Amino acid sequence: MAWTNSKDAALRERAMAVIPNGMYGHQSVMLLPDDYPQFYDRAQGAYLWDTDGNRYIDYLCGYGPNLFGYGHEAIDAAYVDRMKRGDTMTGPGQAMVELAEALTAQVSHADWAMFCKNGTDATTMAMMIARNFTRKKTIVLAKGAYHGAAPWCTPLKNGVTEADRANQVFYEYNNVESLEAAVKAAGSDLAAIFASPIKHDTFVDQELPDPAYARRARELCDEHEALLIVDDVRAGFRLARDCSWSLVGVKPDLSAWGKAIANGHPISALLGAEKARFAAATIYATGSFWFSAAPMAASLATLKLIRDTDYLERTIALGERLRAGLDEAAGRHGFTLRQTGPAQMPLIMFDDDPTGAKAYFWNNALLKRGVYFHPWHNMFMTTAMTDADIDHTVEAADVSFKLLKAAGPLPPVEKLAFLHSMVD
Ligand code: PMP
Repeated sequence: MAWTNSKDAALRERAMAVIPNGMYGHQSVMLLPDDYPQFYDRAQGAYLWDTDGNRYIDYLCGYGPNLFGYGHEAIDAAYVDRMKRGDTMTGPGQAMVELAEALTAQVSHADWAMFCKNGTDATTMAMMIARNFTRKKTIVLAKGAYHGAAPWCTPLKNGVTEADRANQVFYEYNNVESLEAAVKAAGSDLAAIFASPIKHDTFVDQELPDPAYARRARELCDEHEALLIVDDVRAGFRLARDCSWSLVGVKPDLSAWGKAIANGHPISALLGAEKARFAAATIYATGSFWFSAAPMAASLATLKLIRDTDYLERTIALGERLRAGLDEAAGRHGFTLRQTGPAQMPLIMFDDDPTGAKAYFWNNALLKRGVYFHPWHNMFMTTAMTDADIDHTVEAADVSFKLLKAAGPLPPVEKLAFLHSMVD
């Protein structure tokens, strides 16, 4: 079938009338290359179909939740079974206790668990618990890191007051001196250091954590009786079967989880160490849908796969195959890619592409060949991908490099310049 987007175009037009800007937040494709569809009909395994019936190998994985494949049989069976007996009830089901037991057994720093819906809920609770624990206010965060869409952390300033952002000091990720300076600026008021497990900011190369930086963050929290918070919402269980900072031998006091923990069913979690238990028990935190039983059953089934399968090694192998294939194809056409971060969470950008023109052209060409990539956000591998999917992707990339070369000099991407102008 030839690539079309006529149904999507009609839906966008209708959306413009009844949804602000037709779509909002990180899932608005308005700022992506021109032909990206906004609406989808179906997803199965590693594939996604838009409303026009075009099929894509989906490297966004729902922006992270799809770890074991869309529509995974065992996970969805657990979900459906629980849903039929009752999902959102007046109180939680026994799955809540079982899931707290499973997560605290899985994540070595954790002695207790709380559940919520979105990553933002978990990071916001982490901040509140740290302030409740310490009776101090200042939070030290890495510049440019994403922790959610609440007023205290959303990347755009519209609708946000100075008071919403009070008591925050920023440091450069992986830079010990900058972290020490931020902690010094917090003085006697340090409540917490927030850290992403890896640097996975948009538009810039990803970075693995320098163990010296992670260890210093731990020490500084201990010296100041503050809490160390790892935001594992995006990378959780994609880098390790434990908290991601287990890879650098550092245990946080609190870790925030979401996305992959139920393979796409709506649930997030905050895990914590014993010392923060009372502080966690004495904040007010709740939500109408936070105790729904079916996503908890789905999360239990997901954790079983995390424990019992080679999913992690599989996603790493797939990511490495992709990385090597793309490097080779790029080289054949005289391009250099910047492929950064863990292979199973790839970020792919072009060297020498200050206006994003190469990336936008190449990603658009890939899209029309059935490959859904992102030009400036990290992507994800799923165990549902096969070697054949990776090989198809590399072939599509090869053709797209050829077209990019033939296109010659390209104009700057205006929508990217607009986007950069809106962010702090
Ligand atoms: N922290 C990180 C590191 C994230 O990547 C995200 C979501 N992209 C969040 C927090 C917020 O999660 P949610 O969108 O589920 O609120």
